Amino acid sequence: MAHHADPIGHVLGWLSFARPRFRDRCFLYVSDRGLAHLVLTRRGYAAITFGHVVVFAREPTDALWRHELRHVKQYERLGLAFLPLYLWLYAKHGYAAHPLERDASGTLALFSKARRQRTSAVPRARAARVSAAAQARRRRKRSQSG
Ligand SMILES: [Zn+2]
Repeated sequence: MAHHADPIGHVLGWLSFARPRFRDRCFLYVSDRGLAHLVLTRRGYAAITFGHVVVFAREPTDALWRHELRHVKQYERLGLAFLPLYLWLYAKHGYAAHPLERDASGTLALFSKARRQRTSAVPRARAARVSAAAQARRRRKRSQSG
């Protein structure tokens, strides 16, 4: 699965003299040289995600990897809107209060809650339909025998 923002990440990775690795269906680059040095290290950032491509300034911890994977999911949800939306929210809220950052850090659930509700609502609706059909069958049976 490719995302329109993937090439941006690959260009950043290549211009950081790193070779990509593949992990959890994503490409990851680790480098603090070249463009990554300018974009990440010098500005105090640990990583940046473009679509399914993550560029890290240093080898990621599991927590940092999970955080960036959450950004990957956001890209999948938001499609073309991710980058302009991210920048607009950044201008409005800064980094710490940024809704997409809070979602990535698990302090705010922008998408997962809706998904949980949807997946749990479907079986419940199906179960209700099944029990309604079973009741109708029982009623029919009762009226046949009675
Ligand atoms: Zn983040």
